[in-house]
Amino acid sequence: MRVLVLILLCALMAAAEFRVGVARVDITPPKGAPMAGYYYNRAAEGAHDPLLATAMVIEREGVRFAIVTCDLLSMPAEIAREARERIARDPGIPATHVVVSATHTHTGPALVAGQIRYNLTGDMLRIGKEYSAGLAARIHEAVAAAAAALQPANLYTARGREDSVTFNRRFWMKDGTVGWNPGKRNPNIVRSAGPVDGDLPVLYAETPDGKPIGVFVNYALHLDTVGGTRYSRDYPYTLARALEAARGEGLVTLFTLGCAGNLNHIDVSSARQQRGNGEAARIGSVLAAAVLKALGELRPVADMPIRVSSREVALPLAPFDPAELAAARAVAATFGTEKPAPFLELVKATRMVSVAERKGEPIRAEVQVLSIGRDVAFVALPGEIFTELGLAIKLASPFAWTSVISLANDSPGYIADRKGYAQGAYEPVSSRVASGSGEMLVEAATLALIEHVRGLPADPEPVAAAAGR
Ligand SMILES: [Zn+2]
Repeated sequence: MRVLVLILLCALMAAAEFRVGVARVDITPPKGAPMAGYYYNRAAEGAHDPLLATAMVIEREGVRFAIVTCDLLSMPAEIAREARERIARDPGIPATHVVVSATHTHTGPALVAGQIRYNLTGDMLRIGKEYSAGLAARIHEAVAAAAAALQPANLYTARGREDSVTFNRRFWMKDGTVGWNPGKRNPNIVRSAGPVDGDLPVLYAETPDGKPIGVFVNYALHLDTVGGTRYSRDYPYTLARALEAARGEGLVTLFTLGCAGNLNHIDVSSARQQRGNGEAARIGSVLAAAVLKALGELRPVADMPIRVSSREVALPLAPFDPAELAAARAVAATFGTEKPAPFLELVKATRMVSVAERKGEPIRAEVQVLSIGRDVAFVALPGEIFTELGLAIKLASPFAWTSVISLANDSPGYIADRKGYAQGAYEPVSSRVASGSGEMLVEAATLALIEHVRGLPADPEPVAAAAGR
């Protein structure tokens, strides 16, 4: 009898090694705030659905880490830094243990922080400034609430898959160039110029008695389906609602963006209209179905240590000819005016001006890895990363489950792979870093992942096996 009680006690204790807390904070800006997402100015007329900062804190043996994802187009370094400083003070999670990321919704606000490409004036500038100044405090609020809600939890992972809603938006064209978003049914398309990533890593947390706490989902697909002048989280809105409806009220979905720099939802093989809240709801529903399928194949995360590391990689700047700078400034000044320069010229000029302002100072990118034993690894990278780079990290990872979170802690813009820079077209033309930068991030992440699994103890015996002895 005493042995049985002991075994039961051990089983209960083993089941409660992890603690998980989740929280959501409304970060919807007021009407009239400037919206981000395109190369022109637009003021918001309201919201289709509220924008959120969603946080998940995971703790084991006093070691905590936090992931917070915000319904924003980008995560300026200034705002991420302030949020992490606040979080380091209270609830005392060090900055390196905190990932502050954006989902990249194109129906979110334009933030007035750091270098901005919008020529904002008047009310839009004033409202945008006020909103941006208060944002880090809201992000902090989400993490503090999640830390305050920490409770014993069981963690599980699964790998879902969904290939039908994500497309590479770059194509080899008949004239030998690479086209970007060449349009539906374009007869000059030869073939896709890169892969997609249908991987759908899911991390699920529930209480020891089986009540849902939160689900982390990562997927590589641009959030640019809605458009217009009303705020929306885009497809994560429906994804979160559908998961909550299926798995129980109170389930918090933490959606993070995978490496989706060159992926979007446009299926060029069909003439079907693909814009608006309906299309976002369709994609959210398809992804929810794939997540629910994955939740039927959960595997428990072994009770092993949490490890965190953060390293900085100095990415070389995109080269430019100083003789062209004056002309570039003139072209960039047409941004937001009645007569903007042609799109790709504007993109190139904006990039040159932005690079010149750095006076040779490389872009410092933080490569962050958070892991649990050898079952779970999160890699967090800044910027809009080409999917080839995310695939390379996941392929090289020694972990059973690896998720790559983009747009984390900073927004240096697009980062392509070497092939992408050689191909040209929109993303590499707009990129402020030089060819090879993407591979530097892959190498840093891969080496960190390998270091994380080194020196770990052997897997603990599963609870069930111990009880049966
Ligand atoms: Zn985008």
